[in-house]
Amino acid sequence: MIGCTCAVCRSTDPRDKRLRPSIYLDVPTHAKLLVDTGPDFRQQALTHELTRVDAVLFTHGHADHILGLDELRRFNMMQGGPIPCYANRLTWDTLRQTFSYIFDGVPRLGGGVPQIEPHDITGPFRLAGVRVVPVPLWHGRMPVLGFRFGSVAYLTDCNRLDDAAWEIVEGVDTLVIDALRDRPHSTHFSVQEALEVIARIKPRRAYTTHTTHELGHAATCARLPAGVELAYDGLVLDVSVDVE
Ligand SMILES: [Zn+2]
Ligand SMILES: [Zn+2]
Ligand SMILES: [Zn+2]
Repeated sequence: MIGCTCAVCRSTDPRDKRLRPSIYLDVPTHAKLLVDTGPDFRQQALTHELTRVDAVLFTHGHADHILGLDELRRFNMMQGGPIPCYANRLTWDTLRQTFSYIFDGVPRLGGGVPQIEPHDITGPFRLAGVRVVPVPLWHGRMPVLGFRFGSVAYLTDCNRLDDAAWEIVEGVDTLVIDALRDRPHSTHFSVQEALEVIARIKPRRAYTTHTTHELGHAATCARLPAGVELAYDGLVLDVSVDVE
């Protein structure tokens, strides 16, 4: 956290160095999918040597999940075409307002505008053969989306699963879920609340995300139940997805 000198912010454990939440799903021979383009997307793409983004899925329109959208320009250049982006209506409204220069249709000298191909998410769909199942979640009063891809579900930025979500996440092997800090918050699960959801879904393994500096990686992992850990930047998980 900017300007903070707490033990976690000064920690030399690389797992305590956190950029904004995002995941990259690499499905060999099918597609490389990115979930969210936060303000750190450029740095994340450089660090993890991304050379391709076949499509972007957005969870919601908060700044920490969308402000790196402009960086898709480099992928337009490398891939020679627009990048399909998927979001719900509310998120598209925010994206259109926040990035008016992308959507206003005004030609710009030099052409420096990302080319994206907008798609509405209205239910499960296939993206380059990969099945994507949106998971309805509540982020305070805001409806947001988690995503299930086969055996894995990614549920960031939420403090409640919609009633319809429980069935959708049933039987997941790997669950990634919001757990901001120990103290309760109006729009994010606390660690205790996330553990209650994990106990109900019963995945083989669970990782918590969207962590604040109130939680040190090693100390928090040490007190979590077996099968639950804090995620960290650069964590790579092998999962199986549903492809055709
Ligand atoms: Zn701190
Ligand atoms: Zn949010
Ligand atoms: Zn967030």
